[in-house]
Amino acid sequence: MKMRMVKCSDVGIDNCSYIALGNDLDEVEQNMLSHIETEHHEFLANLNEHEVHLLKHRISTFLGRSCGCGHLEMP
Ligand SMILES: [Zn+2]
Repeated sequence: MKMRMVKCSDVGIDNCSYIALGNDLDEVEQNMLSHIETEHHEFLANLNEHEVHLLKHRISTFLGRSCGCGHLEMP
């Protein structure tokens, strides 16, 4: 199975070298979200609901989930 990964810098969080790795898309996505929730609490607190949605959308897109099939709603 193909290894999946996403970095903090990939989704717009600078000054962090964290990389979420895994074989499973959901697992990587969850790892990334929980990392952001614990390590970037202040960053997250500054986002409004729409921006949080965009952030999650970026993570999914980066993991190759969005392929134009309409699985994810557009921002
Ligand atoms: Zn980070």
